[in-house]
Amino acid sequence: MLLTITTEHQPATDLGFLLHKHPARFQTYSLSFGKAHIFYPQATAERCQACLLLDVDPVGTVRGKGQSEGLLAQYVNDRPYAASSFLSVAISQVLRSALQGQCKDRPELADTVLPLEARIDVLPVRGGETFLHAVFEPLGYEVEATRQPLDDQFPDWGESSYFSVTIRKRTTVSELLTHLYVLVPVFDNAKHYYVGDEELEKLLSYGKGWLSGHPEREEITRRYLKFQPSLFREALARLVQEEQPEELEPDNEPIADQAEEVLEKPISLHEQRIGTVLATLKATGAKRVLDLGCGEGKLLRELLKHRQFEEILGMDVSIRTLEIARDRLKLDRLPERQAARLQLIHGSLIYRDQRLEGYDAAAVVEVIEHLDPPRLEAFERVLFEFARPGTIVLTTPNREYNVTWENVGPQKFRHGDHRFEWTRLEFQTWAQAVAARHRYTVKCVPLGPENASLGAPSQMGIFSRA
Ligand code: SAH
Repeated sequence: MLLTITTEHQPATDLGFLLHKHPARFQTYSLSFGKAHIFYPQATAERCQACLLLDVDPVGTVRGKGQSEGLLAQYVNDRPYAASSFLSVAISQVLRSALQGQCKDRPELADTVLPLEARIDVLPVRGGETFLHAVFEPLGYEVEATRQPLDDQFPDWGESSYFSVTIRKRTTVSELLTHLYVLVPVFDNAKHYYVGDEELEKLLSYGKGWLSGHPEREEITRRYLKFQPSLFREALARLVQEEQPEELEPDNEPIADQAEEVLEKPISLHEQRIGTVLATLKATGAKRVLDLGCGEGKLLRELLKHRQFEEILGMDVSIRTLEIARDRLKLDRLPERQAARLQLIHGSLIYRDQRLEGYDAAAVVEVIEHLDPPRLEAFERVLFEFARPGTIVLTTPNREYNVTWENVGPQKFRHGDHRFEWTRLEFQTWAQAVAARHRYTVKCVPLGPENASLGAPSQMGIFSRA
């Protein structure tokens, strides 16, 4: 059984710090069911690939256990080759710090979103390829699966239920490992250890923040808990509670700016949003970019990582927020050349500002809904008529989606400071009128996992100067 994690984040060898495993070493760990080996087939600044090879001892796992399966099946089975709960145990024991999001030598790396790819050879998938997609895609993964033949010497025997699976996403190493930890046993038929209360606690703790919003949460929970109805019901009841933002952060009263993120956390929408905006900006080839209403600097942090963006200007109306951004981005400690690429300024989007002129592109992420509707016209002129960047990437919530969040509902807004939230049609109508008035073309796209009738939680307009 082989798990391969690959990144092309620069420098890619950061993966070694994140996994707490030195890329130059071949390391072996003894586990109760066999051995785990960690090694790196490739470790250059451009591409780094770490392998976790599990060498499961099928004899060792049954000896003295008195199991009741047929004698032969105890000794001859797929356990050495198939990804299963053994992989989860290996992740939690061999890659524990990485799973928990700790990075001793480079703490800032643990929270860094990287382009990551995980390949599993092989995953037994009960429920077939459709289920595979239904589990990983709502979490934002791109999924590629190749079904293995039962025996390539005998094609007539047909396909097996084993797949080589590759999933890709821009995420943290900790999140990727957490998803694998919970989800790999879900595809498999067997669990090698007793499923009891402890398992339930683990599922709830590792599933925190993403499982409660997952469309397949019932099936995942049922399978994870190996079809034990009482545990399953309790888990589900607790997952539903977790959806209430108050339950997620019981100790501290969420301050206004946190509340929006906490609410959306189950689908980690904000991360997806930032990733999509970043990808869109990259694709335009822009070198000089604006982040208007930059907030605490989440997009700025990503922009800084890409050398394509030579000049980055973040602007916000809130001085306090800019201070937080300065702190989070560690601006005072960045090497001089890095720091020189980024400038933070205080300003408002409803006043014409010459500092915003002459840029290739601008991002306006979840900002316009904070403006009073009568000010929208001023904003429109400031950005589209005077600053006039080549591309404008603008996102705003899709109000239709709010009904899916129990505590928002159709009448309320997601955030105390929102002055309005638009339906898809309202946004498109506004975007097309603005584009037409200022000689831009616009394309509106959904942002985040789509619901068939309500659309996606957020929406994005990509404006290009004609
Ligand atoms: N773009 C950031 C922050 C979104 S929250 C992100 O996606 O993480 C909205 C931000 O818009 C807040 O930081 C708020 O201070 C800022 N904002 C609100 N009105 C503004 C205005 N008139 N001019 C500039 N920024 C404004």
